[in-house]
Amino acid sequence: MADLRPKRIAELIAPYRVQPGRKVRLPRDFPSDAPGRFGKADAKQAKDVLESSVSLLAEYQERLAAQDTYGVLVVLQAIDAAGKDGTIRHVMSGVNPQGVEVSSFKVPSAEEQDHDYLWRYARRLPSRGMIGIFNRSYYEEALVVRVHPELLNAEQLPPASKRGDIWRRRFREINDWERYLTDQGYRIVKLFLNVSKEEQRRRFLDRIDEPAKNWKFSAADAKERGRWDDYQRAFADMLSNTSTEWAPWYVVPADDKPYARLVAAGAIAHALVGVHPQYPKVGAEAMAALEQARDELLAEAPGGAAPEPRVGNAADAPAADRKRGKANAKKNGKQKAKR
Ligand code: AMP
Ligand code: MG
Repeated sequence: MADLRPKRIAELIAPYRVQPGRKVRLPRDFPSDAPGRFGKADAKQAKDVLESSVSLLAEYQERLAAQDTYGVLVVLQAIDAAGKDGTIRHVMSGVNPQGVEVSSFKVPSAEEQDHDYLWRYARRLPSRGMIGIFNRSYYEEALVVRVHPELLNAEQLPPASKRGDIWRRRFREINDWERYLTDQGYRIVKLFLNVSKEEQRRRFLDRIDEPAKNWKFSAADAKERGRWDDYQRAFADMLSNTSTEWAPWYVVPADDKPYARLVAAGAIAHALVGVHPQYPKVGAEAMAALEQARDELLAEAPGGAAPEPRVGNAADAPAADRKRGKANAKKNGKQKAKR
C-alpha cells in the first residue's frame, strides 16, 4: 500500500512556508493560533498526524545514519516562552538519541567573541548522517544583537564591519553560508515558533505561579517583553530576507503547543523525505565475506544445536537461505560491475 504519510505532511506544512522573496509582516501574515481543522476540537486527528511524522522521522533517521552522506540541520528561533524546549522534546521522542545532537546557544563566550560570528555555529554542525538541532542559532546575530546593538561592541569587529547596512550584509552572509552547506549535503529546516503577545503573557504568569516552572523565568525575560515590537520587526525582516529556495523558513503557529509540535515534526520529516536516504548496498566482495562468515558460524554449531537457530525446524530452510544469499551476492556483483 502506498505510504500516505509524506503527502499528508507536505499538505499540512505548506501554508507555513515563507515563499522566497516575500515581504513578511508580523503578526498580519502568519497565524499564531491553530486552525479549526486541527485545533483543540480535533485533538485525535492531530495526534494521528503527529504520530505519523514521528514514526516517519524515526525510520528516515536510521537510513540517514546508515547512508552517512547527508546531514540535517534544524534551526529553531523564537521569542521567550514560545516552546522551543518542549518542541525539541516531543518532536525527537521517537528518534534514536545517537542520531541527534542538540546545541543551545547563549550569550557568546570571550573565546567565541574572539572569532568571526559564524565560528561557534560551524563548530556545532552535525556530521553527515546526523540530525543537529540548533536551539537558537546564528540568526540571533541579526535578532538579539539587532534589538540590542550595544552587543556589537563586544564582538570586537573592525570598524568597517560595523558600517553600512550591517543587518542586510549579515542576511546575505547567512544565505551564502546556508547555500554552501546545502551544496555540501546539508538539509536545513528553519522553524520560527510564532507565539502571540497574549499567549506569552499567560505562559510567563504560569512560570511565576507554578513553583516547578519558576526556574524558567527571570526578570530579564519581562524586560525583553518590553521590546516585543522591536523583536517582531527583527523577526519579520529575517523571514523576508533569509527564506530561500535552498533553506526556506516555516512560521509555526505556536499558541497551541500540540499543533506547534505537529507542524515542527512535519517540517523536519518533510526534509528527510526530500533527502530520501537509502541503506547502502553491500558490494560483491563484502557479500562474499558475509557468506564465508556465515558458513563458519554454521559449522560452529555445538552438538544438538540447530545450525540456524532463527530459521525454525524446516529441514531444507538453511539450504534455501544459503541459495538466496548467494543469489544476492551475484546480483550485487553485477550491479557493481555496471557502475
Ligand atoms: P535561553 O535560550 O532562554 O536560555 O537564553 C539564552 C540567552 O542568550 C538569551 O537571552 C539570548 O538572547 C542570548 N543569546 C543567544 N545568542 C546570542 C548572541 N549571539 N548574542 C547575544 N546574546 C545571545
Ligand atoms: Mg530564556
